[in-house]
Amino acid sequence: MKRRTALEILGASAASSLLMPRIDLRAPFRAWTWVHGNNVDTESVWRAKFARIRAGGITGVLVGGGNMAMIAAAAHAEDLIFHAWTWVMNRSGDVWVKVNHPEWFNVNRNGDSSLAKPPYVGYYQWLCPSRPEVREYLRGIVKEIAETPNVDAVHLDYIRHPDVILPIGLWPQYHLVQDHEMPEYDYCYCTVCRDKFKAQSGYDPLTVPDPTADVAWREFRWNSIVEMVTTLSQAARSHNCQISAAVFPTPTLARMQVRQAWEKWPLDAVFPMTYHKFHNQDIPWIGAAVREGLALIPKSELLYAGLHLPDLPPDALVQAIEVVRNAGAAGVSLFDAGQLSDAHLAAVRSAIG
Ligand SMILES: [Zn+2]
Repeated sequence: MKRRTALEILGASAASSLLMPRIDLRAPFRAWTWVHGNNVDTESVWRAKFARIRAGGITGVLVGGGNMAMIAAAAHAEDLIFHAWTWVMNRSGDVWVKVNHPEWFNVNRNGDSSLAKPPYVGYYQWLCPSRPEVREYLRGIVKEIAETPNVDAVHLDYIRHPDVILPIGLWPQYHLVQDHEMPEYDYCYCTVCRDKFKAQSGYDPLTVPDPTADVAWREFRWNSIVEMVTTLSQAARSHNCQISAAVFPTPTLARMQVRQAWEKWPLDAVFPMTYHKFHNQDIPWIGAAVREGLALIPKSELLYAGLHLPDLPPDALVQAIEVVRNAGAAGVSLFDAGQLSDAHLAAVRSAIG
């Protein structure tokens, strides 16, 4: 009998997935940074800012606010990839929607709207992801961004429900012990969500003794965001634009804390905010978080680990970048550009190589 080779036993596709590196070696390990835009700086000022971070080894920027078309052009002129950083479900800065459609805002288990009574902080004013009008409205916003010249991708942020459980490192700041889902932070119980869920399951989530323990209700809310991202992804891609998102650090934490099942989203790149101190963790935890995400997302999707600069002096930043690289990610993204000292940039340059 012919002796079978390992390739024959495994089958061609399984073997190729073993032999092929997960990350295309032609793609560089990339560093990004989130940048707060403004309406003050001129294009030459933006070019100077971008030239400085480009010289530090950063090759992509995620920019929110300000004159997007001008800032995107400045980024491209300095050889940077440009993602348009966009707040999605949290629309606290959207005066038009607040004035014209207060009914679009989400409602907690106590029956309070986040528009009238925002949880945690004044800017926590969020739309309901189940409403068709909300999906259509946000689809239009993404379409407009995707049509803007020099925008390589729409970068979704606040693409989730409000934190039903805050990261544990933030509990003291809010004087909270969130060892269970408290009603004032548990969304969305608006009539549209409850009616849609009832049509699927046969019951109103408010009629069960403990809605926080109801698996179908939990999945409904994960899926409400999956459906939203799918709509937005189609809007971006139909205009030849990519789509990325900032998400909570791991699929497990993201589902539990903010109802994000992000491993199911149709994205080109995902940027988990692996901010270790927010979760009372150390730098090696960042690597474990990266591996958990990579194990669940499609192989075609790139993962860039978000790093929180205030918790990473330059030496620690070098260590964190090495941890992320060894975990197999496509790169890192630094929050935020305003905190990038010259010493940080030198550290990035040496770590990226
Ligand atoms: Zn709702």
